[in-house]
Amino acid sequence: MTAIQDLAEEQALTGHAYAAARSDASPSVVAPETQSLAERIAVGVFVAVPLLAVLLAIPVAWGWGIGVSDLVIAAVFYTVAAHGITLGFHRAFTHRSYTPNRPLKIALAVAGSLAVQGPVIRWVSDHRKHHAFSDAEGDPHSPWKYGESFRGLTKGFFHAHVGWLFDEEQTPAQRYAPDLLKDADIVRISNQFRMWVAVTLIAPAVIGGLVTWSWHGALTAFFWASLVRVALVHHVTWSINSVCHIWGRHPFRTRDRAGNVAWLSLLSGGESWHNLHHADPTSARHGALRGQVDTTAAMIGLFERRGWATDVRWPRAERLRSRMVDPEHTRLSRRVR
Ligand SMILES: [Zn+2]
Ligand SMILES: [Zn+2]
Repeated sequence: MTAIQDLAEEQALTGHAYAAARSDASPSVVAPETQSLAERIAVGVFVAVPLLAVLLAIPVAWGWGIGVSDLVIAAVFYTVAAHGITLGFHRAFTHRSYTPNRPLKIALAVAGSLAVQGPVIRWVSDHRKHHAFSDAEGDPHSPWKYGESFRGLTKGFFHAHVGWLFDEEQTPAQRYAPDLLKDADIVRISNQFRMWVAVTLIAPAVIGGLVTWSWHGALTAFFWASLVRVALVHHVTWSINSVCHIWGRHPFRTRDRAGNVAWLSLLSGGESWHNLHHADPTSARHGALRGQVDTTAAMIGLFERRGWATDVRWPRAERLRSRMVDPEHTRLSRRVR
């Protein structure tokens, strides 16, 4: 299958013209240039150290600055918000890899808004533009924007991770998300974004205060389950844009540099199997190779069995094999038929 057929198919599956914008796409693998050890360490330090510091703060503060209730509330809000992004904003609304029924659609749009990553329609517009121009001119957040030198890549890493959010230019929703602009539920939730930000910050504090029946409990829950939790969801999502477009394995052919990064897979709900995702953007499962955990795909399966999700685009073995670099030595997950 040629790249142009791929684009036409993607366009047909998602019902958008955005893929056509990338008509110069080539079907070849764009393997990253080799990087020196110093470069790998420098960028890894920026990602790992702040997160490690937060994790180390937990035992240090245990007993007076953090308790069981803080961790439980943080874990619940993390899971809900992160999967609101992966199940809702990403796989349902951006790529149409399945169709949620109306209650599920509304619940996912609200859950994703609790991640504080912008209104749903803006998120989807940016992400569709990312796929249309991935790692080329026009991609809102490519880490390769400033070239492949150490300086360029360090600058590019920050741009892809968080810097792009400050770009003055906004992705036009009329062009990239006309389908969502016609959906009254989605438009309403998108417009209510500020209210959901207030909810996601205040609710953990209220729950923490009620559970421990103390102002101290409300304060620690606000710190850990509101602030630290939102920061963690942010960095994990942003790492898909930065880390997964610099490092990772490339078992599938893509027209960009998206890689599979195993250590991010649990925290990202399976989204860090990003090489497969760029090779087959509408697939409901990103972790399609042997041993790859994808909690988002597991939940889509659950919704499908309950009848809440229909038209699920489960990946087909034949289709995936046709996109593999080395089909003979790459083993598919047992869940892919
Ligand atoms: Zn990507
Ligand atoms: Zn995507």
